[in-house]
Amino acid sequence: QLYLDRIERLDPQLNSFITVTAEQALAQADAADARLAKGEKTPLLGVPVAQKDIFCTEGVRTSCGSRMLDPFVSPYNATVVERMNAAGAVMLGKTNMDEFAMGSSNETSFYGPVRNPWDTERVPGGSSGGSAAAVGARLVPGATGTDTGGSIRQPAAFCGITGLKPTYGRVSRYGMIAFASSLDQGGPMAATAEDCGRMLNAMAGFDERDSTSVERPEEDFTAGLEQDLKGLHIGLPTEFFGEAGLDERVRGVIDAAIEVLKGRGAEVREVGLPNSHLSVPAYYVVAPAECSSNLARFDGVRYGYRCENPEDLMDLYTRSRGEGFGDEVKRRIMVGTYVLSAGYYDAYYLKAQKVRRIIADDFRRAFEDVDVLLAPTTPELPFALGAKADPVSMYLSDIYTIAANLAGLPAMSLPAGEIDGLPVGLQLIGNYFDEARLLGVAHQYQ
Ligand code: GLN
Repeated sequence: QLYLDRIERLDPQLNSFITVTAEQALAQADAADARLAKGEKTPLLGVPVAQKDIFCTEGVRTSCGSRMLDPFVSPYNATVVERMNAAGAVMLGKTNMDEFAMGSSNETSFYGPVRNPWDTERVPGGSSGGSAAAVGARLVPGATGTDTGGSIRQPAAFCGITGLKPTYGRVSRYGMIAFASSLDQGGPMAATAEDCGRMLNAMAGFDERDSTSVERPEEDFTAGLEQDLKGLHIGLPTEFFGEAGLDERVRGVIDAAIEVLKGRGAEVREVGLPNSHLSVPAYYVVAPAECSSNLARFDGVRYGYRCENPEDLMDLYTRSRGEGFGDEVKRRIMVGTYVLSAGYYDAYYLKAQKVRRIIADDFRRAFEDVDVLLAPTTPELPFALGAKADPVSMYLSDIYTIAANLAGLPAMSLPAGEIDGLPVGLQLIGNYFDEARLLGVAHQYQ
């Protein structure tokens, strides 16, 4: 009730929720109380959470931030939702997001932009901006996000919270509306690394309904929290500290954070990721290609929005899609269709896949020398609403986050400090399945 009251009081200004499920939440809370009284101990028993509106929730609208799915109510729960429910979480509602998770500012949502709780004239980042703003404003202690190309880490950085993108395959994508299937990964967003670890314990695990889910022994992601930083090898990718685009003020906060970690015994050295400048171009071939295919299912027949009075089948398809999708989504579908078309496939899509492999190889080499990589999460401070009208400038917001998605590595953002009343995010990238260590390093810093 305390959190529901905060949502009612503060969210009209922030717009971080698309749907608030107050009644169900109170019923779930009562059920959690009963389970507590029986002495049950599950990881999130009675903990209020919010689900990004990309996760299907049985009986509760799942819009994915789009007019296309505005009327859509899923008949089943995503695995993540199901697992969090089983762990005792209390869902307060569904959070706002960029349409189909395409964006870095939450301005492409059909439900209007989300505002940054630190400064409401600024964006919260995206695409998981609703979750980040809700946690940042303490409307909820934890929320889910998805990260295809930075969408957990960049909004976490902009809202002064902690967010983790797990290794690709750790968290089931079943019931998580697909954007770019080979990159999409769900993960936790919360105030601290410790809370993220607890959430991930509930979220992660093998799921036979997701063919890319990885089967590994169950793990406690809070197990590394008390690790000693003495002797930890931290690599600073030279390319992520170059002068191009990195705000001096952000750099100053990151440099100070590095000194703190050194003071706690970490050994820091420079490493090279020589192909990282190719990340954004490769991503903007691969992600649109996959999205053009994934979004083909929204045809006005099977799901959600349908245009009025179609003249024939073709008119039904074209007008439903034309009216249901926003500009950024249409841009991606067109780019994706182009790079996959006969005659261009080799030049763009196949080439991008090769670039993707050499980016992953760069990381493999770096992790032969160091345990974790450290970099800024974003090149700049949270920007003003409307400041990035040009799509390419928006795409460059994820210049430091996208490489980890292309390689499938776990990566997180944690609050490094603040400047001029705005938060700065520190990014840690780990080797495959090394989430517990990442969370531990973050916890020691926090
Ligand atoms: N900003 C990137 C994009 O628009 C990343 C989105 C994401 O991670 N979901 O594609």
